[in-house]
Formats: sequence, C-alpha cells, structure tokens
Amino acid sequence: MKEQLEQLKNKVLEEIKKIQDPKLLGNLEKEYLGRKGKLTKILRKIKDVSAELRPVVGKLANEIKKDVSAAFQEAEIKLKTRYQNSSEFFDPTLPGIVPPSGHLHPITQMLERIWEVFRSMNYDLVLGPEIENDYYNFQALNVPPDHPARDMHDTFYLKGARGVKRERGKYGDLLLRTHTSSISQVRTMEKRKPPIRIMATGKCYRRDDDISHTPMFHQFDGIAIDHNITFADLKGTLHYAMRELLEEEVKVRFRISYFPFVEPGAEFDVTCTICGGRGCPTCKGTGWLEMGGCGIIHPNVMKAAKYDSKKWKGFAFGFGVERPAMVKHRISDIRALFENDLRFLNQF
Ligand SMILES: [Zn+2]
Repeated sequence: MKEQLEQLKNKVLEEIKKIQDPKLLGNLEKEYLGRKGKLTKILRKIKDVSAELRPVVGKLANEIKKDVSAAFQEAEIKLKTRYQNSSEFFDPTLPGIVPPSGHLHPITQMLERIWEVFRSMNYDLVLGPEIENDYYNFQALNVPPDHPARDMHDTFYLKGARGVKRERGKYGDLLLRTHTSSISQVRTMEKRKPPIRIMATGKCYRRDDDISHTPMFHQFDGIAIDHNITFADLKGTLHYAMRELLEEEVKVRFRISYFPFVEPGAEFDVTCTICGGRGCPTCKGTGWLEMGGCGIIHPNVMKAAKYDSKKWKGFAFGFGVERPAMVKHRISDIRALFENDLRFLNQF
C-alpha cells in the first residue's frame, strides 16, 4: 500500500505540472481528491490494514494528501495570475456585451393589458378548468343538448380519454371548453353573491383552422351583475375598454345578434384602426372590425346560478384576445402568433 501511495503521488504531481487550463485542473483535482477520487479510495482502505502497520500507513497517506492538495492550490494560483495578466489589455471604450433577453408574447402582453383595464373598473379575475363538462359549457348557459347553437361550437370531446373518468348524468361528457363563459357565468356565479363584477380569461378550443381561426385561442369574458344594469352600462364599459386596449379613439357599435346565454344579444364592432373608418381591405371596406359578442344575461342562466332574475340584472360580453392584439399590431394571419418564429415575435 505504501508503494501504491507513492506511485499515485508521483503520477499526480507530474500531471499537475503539465496542465495549462484552470478547468482541466479542476477536473484532475476531482479525479484524485473528489468523493470517488483515486486517492480518496485508497484512504478509505486504510482501515483494512493490519493494526501494527495502520499508524505508519495512515501518517504517510495523510502527508501525501496534504502534498497533493498543496500542489493543486499552487497550480491554481499560478494559472489564475497568468489569466489575469493576459486580460490586462482591457479596453473600456469597447461597447459592452448585451446578454440576450426575451420579452412577453404579444398575446400575454394583451392579456395583461386587458386585466389592467378591467381591474381599474373593479373587475375581479377568475380562472377555471380547460377540461370542462357538458353542463357548464352548454346546459347551464341555456344551450340544452338538442339546441342548434351547439353546431356553432363543434368542439373536442374527450370520449374515453385515458385516465379521465367519463362523467355521466347531470354534468355530461367531458370536452375542451369552447369559451370562457363557462367560468364567468354559472361557475363563478354559483360561488358568489351579487353584486359582482368578474372577468375570466384563458385558452379555448374549437375545430377551426384558417387565416383568422386557430383550434386553440384565448378568450376574455366579463360579467357585471347589479341592480338596474342596462345596455347603456354595457356600451359604456366596452367603449372605454376598447379605447384603452387599442390606444386609439375608436367608436363602438352594436349589431343585433343571437347568443343563447344572453337576451337581447349583440355583436360589437369597433371603428377600423387601419383606415380610421373610411374602408380598407382589412375591414372589408366597411370601416368596422368585429370584436366580440355581448348582451344582457339570460334569465335561464340566472336561474342556473340560483339568482333572482327579477331582483338582479347583468350584462355579459366576450371577445378573443388575439383579435385586439392583431388589430393593434396589424397582424393579418392569426396563425403567425403560434408558430413560435422568433423573427416574427421579436417585433412586438
Ligand atoms: Zn379599415
């Protein structure tokens, strides 16, 4: 064992002399003195040496360990000084190296802006599950199983999904939610008592895929329930919000439309920010851009949430988050937002 130790010592000292790179020196140190290092292994075996020889071998081993450690330290200092000397030619006039930094995705930026605007109007942010059941996605929103409105929401059902128990009975099948109205209306209404002002945001899924639709998109949804809420409150809220979000003096107009969970219902448009309302290809010459849907909450939805629809009135509205982001940044193809091409995303 004595010989073995001596040999090892000579070998490592020889190797230390040859090394010119601090990193390699560190590796070598680990190879010999690390927890599983060659020298460490031998030191562990000392306990097996016979009792008479143990003190002698032990002493020698400790000395060798000390010597080797010192040699490593010395070499390290030597290499460091050499490295510092070589960087003496520091030129303070050279421009610095800017570390690469990312930024938020345009959709996240728009989401945060939306939250900010509605928070200033006292809306409370709520979240809900992306895997929704038939009851909350359709039935509670006044869309019974045979309702024709379900054609509009041709969705992704999770029939027989592995690990997901198929719900039956009142709650029905599992599906990927087709709108965030399932969170704001009913799910949250069930838990809270009016008056309430809530906004819900998140990913939604529908079976659409073209220049202005992706199978996954983000939606923003808000409701306000109080005494004496009218359409005028709804229009005022949307007008203020759109002006703040698009950072332009836009007008808002309502067009009568049908959504099962509101009555009366409307689609709302804003003046085209590209042509200022004169008409251009983006707005198809109309001067208006479609933003979303809104209306006064249907009495059946109030009933599903156990609210007294004679005592309380409320409005609801919803729009895609991609749309205002596209209008603001003048993006013509929605799919570009989700292709993760940094050359595109770095512009925003
Ligand atoms: Zn236009």
